[in-house]
Amino acid sequence: MSVVSRLLRARPITSNTLRTLSSSYSTSPPLSSRENDVTPPSPSFKHPTDGRNVQWVFLGCPGVGKGTYASRLSKLLNVPHIATGDLVRDELNTKGPLSEQLSEIVNQGKLVSDNLIIDLLSKRLEAGEAKGESGFILDGFPRTIRQAEILEGVTNIDLVINLKLREEALLAKCLGRRTCSQCGGNYNVACIDIKADNERPAMYMPPLLPPSHCASKLITRADDTEEVVKERLRIYNEKSRPVEEFYRKRGKLLEFDLPGGIPESWTKLLQLLNLDDHEDTRSAAA
Ligand code: ADP
Repeated sequence: MSVVSRLLRARPITSNTLRTLSSSYSTSPPLSSRENDVTPPSPSFKHPTDGRNVQWVFLGCPGVGKGTYASRLSKLLNVPHIATGDLVRDELNTKGPLSEQLSEIVNQGKLVSDNLIIDLLSKRLEAGEAKGESGFILDGFPRTIRQAEILEGVTNIDLVINLKLREEALLAKCLGRRTCSQCGGNYNVACIDIKADNERPAMYMPPLLPPSHCASKLITRADDTEEVVKERLRIYNEKSRPVEEFYRKRGKLLEFDLPGGIPESWTKLLQLLNLDDHEDTRSAAA
């Protein structure tokens, strides 16, 4: 079991203790030396030099597309895409002792407790390690300062990509999300078409429609209703927005404003990261 898994398992330990314990792991400099940084360095993509795979985090509001881009990058970089929302939904589907309590929290748009999410994440990391996985792209974690501190205490995150999309598109994108109940494919039936105004250019995001064999099997997440999405957006601003600042101060935050639909945004993201996706240039479909 790796240091990450062991220490994530030891979640009641304070982040200071974790930092001391994790001396064999590559951690960041102590907090105090960075809190006052005025101009953090611009983050950029570099392969880690210690032989491990990348350890990245995706931040961004519900509906922004973290899952889409994290999953594409994970295939490109050959690292697991670990979405804590998926871990929560898997746990809900087990119908185990926790699931009733969890579904109440998730369906109200609230965050589950830091301890619980860290338990789920450490189990996932441990299972991955047993299969020989190394590195990760985390999606949906950390979502609170406490989670960010714990993560910082146990490992060194290389890069944090903060996806941003205009507020008016986020709700529509959440409400348009669909999943195929058979193959698990993710689609979006929303068509975002925002006209240009004096301040901002037009934005067009076409729907991502399912193939005909999935069309009759589409389901909507129970927490993708208007009321719950608005609450999730509110909670993002309250609890998760400060996590952006946490990483900004450490010079790890790479801001990415989505310019439009997937093909356009993916190409721009790769340019920003200085990466090539040969597969993608062969198949333009998104
Ligand atoms: P979103 O579309 O809001 O980004 P996710 O699929 O990432 O949704 O998460 C679904 C739900 O799972 C969240 O609303 C929350 O209840 C729970 N969850 C996921 N990740 C975390 C986390 N890091 N901390 C607390 N709760 C989480």
